[in-house]
Amino acid sequence: GQSRIGVTGLAVMGANLARNIARRGVPVAVHNRTSARTKEFMEEYGDEGAFTAAENLADFVAALERPRRIIVMVKAGAPVDGVIEELSPLLDAGDIIIDAGNSHFADTKRRTEECAERGLRFMGIGVSGGEEGALLGPSIMPGGDPAAYAEVEEILTSIAAVVDGTPCCTQVGPDGAGHYVKMVHNGIEYADIQLIAEAYDLLRSVAGLDVPAIAKIFEEWNSGDLESFLIEITAKVLAKTDEKTGEPLVDVIVDQAEQKGTGTWTAIDALQLGVPLTGITEAVFARGLSALRDERKAASTTLAGPTPGGGADETDLVDDIRQALYASKVVAYAQGFAQMRAASAANGWDLDLGAMATIWRGGCIIRAQFLNRIRDAYAEHPDLDNLLMVPYFTEAVANAQDAWRRVVVKATEQGVAIPAFSSSLSYYDGYRRERGPANLIQGLRDFFGAHTYRRTDTEGAFHTRWAQDGAEVRTDA
Ligand code: NDP
Repeated sequence: GQSRIGVTGLAVMGANLARNIARRGVPVAVHNRTSARTKEFMEEYGDEGAFTAAENLADFVAALERPRRIIVMVKAGAPVDGVIEELSPLLDAGDIIIDAGNSHFADTKRRTEECAERGLRFMGIGVSGGEEGALLGPSIMPGGDPAAYAEVEEILTSIAAVVDGTPCCTQVGPDGAGHYVKMVHNGIEYADIQLIAEAYDLLRSVAGLDVPAIAKIFEEWNSGDLESFLIEITAKVLAKTDEKTGEPLVDVIVDQAEQKGTGTWTAIDALQLGVPLTGITEAVFARGLSALRDERKAASTTLAGPTPGGGADETDLVDDIRQALYASKVVAYAQGFAQMRAASAANGWDLDLGAMATIWRGGCIIRAQFLNRIRDAYAEHPDLDNLLMVPYFTEAVANAQDAWRRVVVKATEQGVAIPAFSSSLSYYDGYRRERGPANLIQGLRDFFGAHTYRRTDTEGAFHTRWAQDGAEVRTDA
């Protein structure tokens, strides 16, 4: 075989990855289950590089130099298992199967083991940036055996986005680590988007601004601390006029958010790890609530509450919203990184969190200046428990908090739902509290279930005989 790498699955992502690789002068074998798609690919892009088109998997495998490197870019879920089943008998020991789709990390763990039993090496790599990223330079989060990564490192780093001379691609950790980190990336993207939507809602409903004015505000915000791809495209989406009606396009878009599930996966894993991940989880719930369009319509004329708007001192409010957005964003990232830290410990992945911030600076949807600050934080404190505790973020939130509180109060008074803004503030206030109210929770649990409690002044587990004589007994001695 002559091709250095193969790509099977030539829908938009696979096709663009194959083109990206070939454009760097690397010979690529291409294959798709339905061979008509392979033909179309060759007709449209065949002259962009040294492609070998294969009609079936046997020809595909035969076209590859050894150890074979095969990127699988098919629909996530059962199709990935199907492709592995078909490929395995055609491969030799040491060949590398690379799943670059949005697979769940637990599936990646399982597939890694199944492939190892067959003498094959499996890598699960997260790829972010959508179609354009895949073609022009994505952020790549490779998981798997370091020796296998060494065989593909040159190709992957050459096709990744580059920021300040550094490719947005680094080995994340073993087995499911790459897909895990990609999952949390998507979760953070949910939180970022929800926070932006809440800021837009406040600017519109509470500050009473019109859509073009809000577009300008986001454009301005994009030159400060908030500078990011998502803020940039928010300005563009808001500035767009609908051709049919002449109204802002956002005014004719139905307010029901859809999702493909990675935010839900992130929230589920946070619940299982016991990590407070309020920002991302509220963002998933907010999409769920948005989907209840008919119920909301009925409730809008039934349930009492204030009508937002009026009387705001606009200038101050706009800047307050900016600061509230920034502080909430810091919290959402602090939570996402705390989750990766917990998952790293639970799975033995030894994740380098600063490196994750580094490879998210370009190519992916959450790319932002801000990630440099996170990278710096972990460079100085590799064992950091929470990003809020490094001086840069501590001060940023300290400076923003008065505005943040004013915004949450105002939104609450006026009846505007801000689940991500307000839950982030509650997390912040809960986290900075040396002694919270969980003592009472423990007391209640002991009362109804004899679950015991610990005392502040003595070691050991205790139970009060609530229903008997009311005396306290030590239960662990
Ligand atoms: P799709 O998820 O739409 O999947 C279509 C591809 O999968 C086609 O090549 C199809 O082949 C193949 N396929 C489906 N079922 C099977 C099967 N049982 N056996 C073999 N091949 C099968 O493609 P995308 O390019 O959108 O995405 C690919 C992966 O990348 C997914 O995991 C997706 O979640 C992920 N991803 C997508 C992003 C995006 O922006 N779209 C961004 C980042 C990741 P056929 O032509 O024969 O039907």
